[in-house]
Order: sequence, then C-alpha cells, then structure tokens
Amino acid sequence: MLITQGPQFNGKASKRMHVMAKPIGAACNIDCTYCYYLSKQDLLEYKQGCSPKLDEQALETYIRQYIEGQNTPEIIFSWQGGEPTMLGLDYFRKIVELQRKYQPPGIVIANDLQTNGTLLNDEWCEFLAANNFLVGLSIDGPEMLHNAYRTNRAGRGTFRQVMAAVELLHKHKLKFATLTCVNNLTSKNPLEVYRFLRDEVRSPQMQFIPIVEQKTFRTTAPQTWQPQEQLRQGDNRLKPWHKKSVVEPWCVSDEGWGDFLIAVFDEWVKHDLGKVFVQYFEASVETWMGRKNPLCTLGEMCGKGLAMEPNGDVFTCDHYVYPEYKIGNIHHQKLDEMAYSEQQQAFGFAKSRTLTSQCQQCDYQFACFGECPKNRFIRTKDGEPGLNYLCAGWKKFFSHADKSLAYILRATGHPVAHGKYRDELLKPSMNRFPYPPQF
Ligand code: SF4
Ligand code: SF4
Repeated sequence: MLITQGPQFNGKASKRMHVMAKPIGAACNIDCTYCYYLSKQDLLEYKQGCSPKLDEQALETYIRQYIEGQNTPEIIFSWQGGEPTMLGLDYFRKIVELQRKYQPPGIVIANDLQTNGTLLNDEWCEFLAANNFLVGLSIDGPEMLHNAYRTNRAGRGTFRQVMAAVELLHKHKLKFATLTCVNNLTSKNPLEVYRFLRDEVRSPQMQFIPIVEQKTFRTTAPQTWQPQEQLRQGDNRLKPWHKKSVVEPWCVSDEGWGDFLIAVFDEWVKHDLGKVFVQYFEASVETWMGRKNPLCTLGEMCGKGLAMEPNGDVFTCDHYVYPEYKIGNIHHQKLDEMAYSEQQQAFGFAKSRTLTSQCQQCDYQFACFGECPKNRFIRTKDGEPGLNYLCAGWKKFFSHADKSLAYILRATGHPVAHGKYRDELLKPSMNRFPYPPQF
C-alpha cells in the first residue's frame, strides 16, 4: 500500500493521507517572480469562469471526507495557496468549526498554514495561536535579497511587511517555520541568509527550497518532456545565466545549490548543532543513521501528499498540478479512494523505479533517490534521460557532509548506517574517530 498503513488503530487497519488544500487556488495578494503557482490560473479551468474559492459546501465535503478517510491518532490539515489568508479570518473560523463537527472522539486534529505573512495582524495571530496552527512563513533573507523577487503588485518589496509578521508570530508565541527560496541570488549569499534567519528572524525551523523552473513549466507537465530535448549534465545551457538557458534566470544552478548547502552546513555544524533546526540537515542525520528520509524529495517514494484545487480537483502532488496528473474530484470520488488509487500508487513507485543507472550506482542514492522527479529533465553524461537537474549539487553536498555526519552520529552514540564512513567499514582495531570533522 502506498499511503502509510500502520498495523492497527482503534481496532482497525491504520490509514493516513495528506492533502495540501488550496481553498483560494493560485490567487495571491503579492506577485513573486518565481511563483510556480500563479500560472495555474491559466492552466486549469479558472479562465472558463470557475470560482477561485472553495465554497462553504465544498469546504464541508472536503473536511468530512478528509476526516472520514483516515484512521490515525492525528489528522493534519494543510492550507496553502496562493495566499490562503486572503479568504479572511471568518473562513478559517468556519474551517475549525467544521473540523470540530466531524472530529471523532480521541482523534487530534492539527492545522498548518503556509503564508506570505503580509495580511497577518493581532486578530489573525490570536486565532492561530488559540487553535494551535503551525505557520509556514515565506521569507527569502535580508531586505535586498527578499525584495529582489518577493514583490507586491506595484513591484515593491514586501520585506517590511514580512518582518512585521515575524514580530507578531513571536509576540503571540506561535509555532512557525520559515520557508526560504534558494534562487540565483540567495544561493550566492548563503551565510547572510542563514545568519539572518538565525539571528534576526529567530526561525525555529528553517526550510530551504531550491528554485528550479524550466522555461516551459507554465504549460508543460513534468515527465511529458521529449527525451531527445533533454540536455546532458554539464551542458552550459543548463546554467540559469546562459543566454540560451532552458531554465528561468532566477533559478539556482546545480553547483550553486551544493555550494549553498555546504556553506550553511559548515556554519550550522560549527555553531548551531542541536540548537538550530535546519530541515535538510536533520533529515540527513536521520538518513545516515539508517532511518527513512522524512522528506518526500529525498525519500524513496512520491505520492504521499495530494493537492486539491478550489473546484475540488485533486492532483498527485503539489508540484504536479497539471491536467495530466489529475486523479479525481471530491464531488465525484472520495479522497481516500483517490489517495489509494492505482494511478496514485504508480506515481509514488515511479520515483524509485525510474532512476537512471547513474543514480542506481551513486554512493548517495540512499540519501537522494534522484530527488524530486519534477526536476529530472536532464540526461546523464552517457546520454540517459531522466537525471535530476540538481544532481551535481546534491552529490557535492552529500560527499562534503558525509564525514561530519558520521562524526556527529558516533559522538552522540548513534549507529552510522550509510556513507563512506559507515560502521560496517570500520575494523575492530580502528579508532572510531580517526578524523576530526573539517569545520
Ligand atoms: S513529485 Fe517531488 S514534491 Fe511531489 S511527492 Fe514526489 S518528490 Fe515530493
Ligand atoms: S546525487 Fe545525483 S546520481 Fe546520486 S542519487 Fe542524487 S541525482 Fe542520482
């Protein structure tokens, strides 16, 4: 079964799913240059007069189905956009009211909300705190870097509004995580970005997202690319700054992504280990220890998180909201049927089943699994299609972090299950710490 099925809960088979609901679709009050979602307004049915809002009746259908389709101690709702706070506070009060209406006894219901922060105020924060929402705040770094792409409709940067939101989140003691896009500019300023998030934003949890968008992304679904059109790894036209580049100029380059992670990782290991939570690094520690990667992008499978548009259409993943990847509609099918459908399972397993030979032979396959398939639009140097655009960067980062991760795990009494310094390669006579980490 693709979607997690634990042994038993409440005397029945445990059953979980996760949906990113977009109750206002791609509608947003600001206009970030690299937003991959704004173009969905044209791609999907909205141009034909479809309401860009999940109406109250559909909202109730969704909440009921989402709860009834799961058998698990905790049900997590995720609200995204576009900008979901544009729906207004009363809409979210209704969400909580409906969740209480359908909440089974003994089951915890949790919510998370991804926002650009610009509409948050005391009233919003009081509501979010009272209802225990986890807030994901989009912020790209210090003022110059944030304002480069995160602009309002008049083209002005949103930094000051987002920093006001940061202060509100702290004032109301809200649980929050920061989401930072690593683009062509932020990737060149890793320490400025990291130290700003650590010292100024005081981010409790840092998430970094590599910005990778082919020039065709607005109209062409992933994996519908022609193999012969894929460029080989190392081709200069894969560099965002090349005048004939196949990716948008604001993208991070493959090597740039690796360099960004390495600079932040070294700073984190040296000063902040155990104090600052950086999602990719925590996930790497777990993976080196032999556990499954908690992040879908670096894990074995896709398909554990569906995406739902305001008209009830459901897609295989937030990054696959294209007509080719629609798996149904909540007005015609039940959410759990879609989540467990053959199409969704095939989508999930394809991540590992379609790895190139380069990935299959890679020392870091255990930590990467070819990364997100939406980025697999290049060919290996041998000409095999379907390699990840970020491959060189990931490999650079993993090989750099390998030794330090092994050291950290041994120093804290944990097994080292993977990598070049794994336990099984150590001979009994060898010093378990034969190297100081290179910080
Ligand atoms: S397509 Fe990418 S984002 Fe979606 S589940 Fe797979 S790895 Fe995750
Ligand atoms: S680092 Fe590159 S070769 Fe290795 S698994 Fe990831 S994408 Fe494949």
